[in-house]
Amino acid sequence: MSEPSPRPKPVVPWSERRYVGRTVADIHGRRQDVLLAEPHAVLQQLAQWITPAFYIDLGRPCNSACLYCAVPPHEDAQGWVAWPEIAAMIAAGQACGCDRAILIGGEPTVYPRLFEILALLKQSGLPRDHVMMTNGLRLAEPGLVHDLAAAGIGTVHISVDTADSPTYDRLSRSKGRLAQQWQGLRAALLEPSLQVYDYCALTAINAPTIPGLLRALVDLADKLQVKVPPLILAVAKPIGDALRHADELLIAPADSAQIVETMIELGNSLGVTVGFRNVQACLLPDHVARSVDYYLDDFSVEVASGVREPYSHTAYWHHPPLCEACGHRGICTGIYRDLEKRYGHADFHAIDRQGLRDGRAGG
Ligand code: SF4
Repeated sequence: MSEPSPRPKPVVPWSERRYVGRTVADIHGRRQDVLLAEPHAVLQQLAQWITPAFYIDLGRPCNSACLYCAVPPHEDAQGWVAWPEIAAMIAAGQACGCDRAILIGGEPTVYPRLFEILALLKQSGLPRDHVMMTNGLRLAEPGLVHDLAAAGIGTVHISVDTADSPTYDRLSRSKGRLAQQWQGLRAALLEPSLQVYDYCALTAINAPTIPGLLRALVDLADKLQVKVPPLILAVAKPIGDALRHADELLIAPADSAQIVETMIELGNSLGVTVGFRNVQACLLPDHVARSVDYYLDDFSVEVASGVREPYSHTAYWHHPPLCEACGHRGICTGIYRDLEKRYGHADFHAIDRQGLRDGRAGG
């Protein structure tokens, strides 16, 4: 394994950083009409943990520097969101019927006013069930997980991508912190009131270590006498830092689908639920019930007006003409434009309504 590249140096001094922010907040609506013929019970439950929720985007700073990060390159970091914008995001989310927030960054656990946000959510009538999307490093600090749970966090979405130390170092552009991350995962699993799932970016770098990750999750859960957390394999998207490092990270669509399928089967044999994101149904027609996207109703809302808009990520993907005849056209996101530029669309093909309620059952 090659040496990890160093964390990029910021080109903007801290004192001058301003988070430009976004005019929209993204929403994971709770899909009342899951169209799957045979929804997977664990993934359906996971979808309930994280919906209906609005994202509070805290800005860019992070205590890691993952190569696959979907925000723009780390050295252009813009700092934290301005405090008044948080109240506006909460109001917009509530206006859309959300009852919980998803804290995202950057890294939410290093946001200096994190507990003030949780207090503000509580004052706004949203006291619990919030979701923290984290790299897990700070969760290793004694007492922090408990304090977060007491303050309203209900679900920890933790990005544990490997159980292999050199792989972690390379992906995170840091050295020797894998044990700390797993300590954070351990603390989250031991907190009785928390729901935990592992959201693992699938890249060419960590793909060979995913079987070891599955086994390590099982071993840890056995040791702690807790349930094995579901593992969501999120195929790396060609956005932000991941686009810059595409040559190192990205996997051709059919190959990533093959890896995901193999891991679903390994998960079945080990007793771990493996789901996925960013794999289109035509690549894995027998496993559409494992696609987390199919359990969510994603859209965005303009924060200033509260007006519902198409999901902001729609800008990154599209449906080429080959999708027109596909039975999944109405629910599938389509293909990432930059993935299509790189690999073409020979791996994709229209399918029938396989796996959907009025089609053939999927596994
Ligand atoms: S809509 Fe297009 S990308 Fe999606 S499953 Fe169908 S053919 Fe594949």
